[in-house]
Amino acid sequence: MSQPSALESSYEPRAHGEKQPFDLMIIGSGAAGMMAAVAASERLRQLAKPAATIAILEKNSRPGIKVLVCGGGRCNLTNAGSLDFLIAQFGRNGRFLTPALQRLDNTALRNWFADQGVPTHEEHDGKIYPDSNQAASIVNTLVQAMHRAGVHIFSSCPATTVTRDESEFLVQTAGGPMRAVRLLICCGGQSYTRMGTTGDGYQFAAALGHQIVTPRPAVVPLLVKEAWVTELQGLAVRDVKVAIEAPGPLPRLATGKPAPSINDMLFTHFGLSGPAVLNLSEIVAELLEKFPTVGLKVDFSHRISGDEWRNTLARWRQTSGKKLLKTLLSEVFPVRLAEMFLRLSATPDDTLCSGVTSAQTHRLIECIKNTRFEVFATRGFKEAMVTAGGVRLDEVDPRTMESRICRNLFLAGEVLDLTGPSGGYNLQLAFSTGYLAGESIADRIIEQREESA
Ligand SMILES: Cc1cc2nc3c(=O)[nH]c(=O)nc-3n(C[C@H](O)[C@H](O)[C@H](O)COP(=O)(O)OP(=O)(O)OC[C@H]3O[C@@H](n4cnc5c(N)ncnc54)[C@H](O)[C@@H]3O)c2cc1C
Repeated sequence: MSQPSALESSYEPRAHGEKQPFDLMIIGSGAAGMMAAVAASERLRQLAKPAATIAILEKNSRPGIKVLVCGGGRCNLTNAGSLDFLIAQFGRNGRFLTPALQRLDNTALRNWFADQGVPTHEEHDGKIYPDSNQAASIVNTLVQAMHRAGVHIFSSCPATTVTRDESEFLVQTAGGPMRAVRLLICCGGQSYTRMGTTGDGYQFAAALGHQIVTPRPAVVPLLVKEAWVTELQGLAVRDVKVAIEAPGPLPRLATGKPAPSINDMLFTHFGLSGPAVLNLSEIVAELLEKFPTVGLKVDFSHRISGDEWRNTLARWRQTSGKKLLKTLLSEVFPVRLAEMFLRLSATPDDTLCSGVTSAQTHRLIECIKNTRFEVFATRGFKEAMVTAGGVRLDEVDPRTMESRICRNLFLAGEVLDLTGPSGGYNLQLAFSTGYLAGESIADRIIEQREESA
C-alpha cells in the first residue's frame, strides 16, 4: 500500500490554509478519525450533494498506527454482544453511546467492512476479528476509502495548537497554519505514547473551552509485591475470577463499584496482566491514588467450590493414593501453577495423594480458591491500552458528537470520557462515534451551504 504523506498530498498545508478553509479538518487519523472522514464523504455522496474538502492530520508517518497493534496485530475490532451489553461495558457513561451505536452498531460495522471486502468472524469469547487476522486489512481498507473519497491526508503533520475566531478554526501544524470551518478532534487518549497518543486532544479541547475529566491509565498491567509471580512469567491461566479487596472502607469511585472479573490471566516478569486483570485495572488505578496498595484475590477454580475441592482431594486419596498429588493437580491446572500451589501451601513436591494432611488440604484449597496479591502500581500510561477520563460528556451532544460549548467543533473516540474493557469495545466506540460525527458534520455542511445560498 502506498503511504500517503504531506508531500504526496495535492495540498500544501500552508498554501491551502491561507487561501481557503477546509470544510472539515480532522485531527488524528486513528480509528475514529478515518471512519469519520469516510462517513462524512459517503453521506454527501449518498445525498447527491457536492463533495466537501476534508483534511485529516496525522502525527505519525502513516495513518492508523495504533489500530495496527490492536489485538496483538489481529485487531479485535468489535464484540458480538447485544446493544445493551455493549453499552453496559462502558459503565455509568455508557448511555451516552446509545445514538452512536444505533447509527453504527457491531453488526453494521461488520457489514461495512464486509462490503469493502474484509469479512470478519466471531471467536469463542465473542471477540470479532477480520478473517485475515491482520489489523493491516482494517487500516488499509479505511485508508483506501479515504483516498477514494478524496480526503487530503497529511501524515507526519502534528497539530500543535488550535484556536477559533468567529467563523473558523485555525490549526497550527508542523507544515504551517491551516484553516477549517468545522473541526473534529480525534486524537485518542494519552496512553501507549509511542504510538503518537500523548493527550494532545485534551489540550485542544480545553483550549476551545472544554473541561477534561482527569486522564487515568486503564486496561493496564499491574505490579504486585509477590516476588514469586516472576517465576511464572509468560504463563496464561484460563477462566479465573479476580476480585478487588480495598484496604479500607471503599470510597466513592469515579470508575464505579468494583465487581469481580472473570477471564484469562497472565503472569509477567513484573506482575499480572491478561483480560481478567486488565479489566479491573482502571478501578485499581483509582484506588491506588487513595491507598498505597490494593489487594487482588484470585480464584483459579471459580466453577468448583472449596467443599467440592475437599471432596476431590479425599477421592484422590482413595482412588489414586499412590500417584503424586502434583500429577493429578497438573491435569487440572498448568504444571507450573500446580507446582507453585504445592510450594505456597508448604506441600512437598513428592507428596502422594494418600499422604496429604488436612492442614495441607486446607492450605492448598486456599491457594486454588483464594490467592491474594498486593498491587502497588500500574504500568502507567506508557503501557496502558486505553486512557480513562477525557472530554466531559455533558459538554458533547451524543446525538451528533458536536460540542455544546463551541459550534462546529466535534469530538469522537477515546478523547471522550468513555472507557471500555478489553474485548473490542474501545474500537467499536471509536468507529461508532467517528461515524456519527462524520454524518453529523456532512449534515451541517449541507445545512450551512443552504443557509448561505
Ligand atoms: C496495544 C494495544 C492493543 C489494543 N487492542 C485493542 C483491541 O484489540 N480492540 C479494541 O477495541 N481496542 C484495542 N485497543 C484500544 C484502541 O487502540 C483504542 O481505543 C482506539 O484506537 C481509539 O481510537 P481513536 O481513533 O479514538 O484513537 P487512536 O486510534 O489512538 O488514534 C488517534 C490518532 O491521533 C493521532 N494524533 C494524536 N495527536 C495528534 C496531533 N497533535 N496531531 C495529529 N495527529 C495526532 C495519533 O497519532 C493517532 O494516530 C488497544 C490499544 C493498545 C495500545
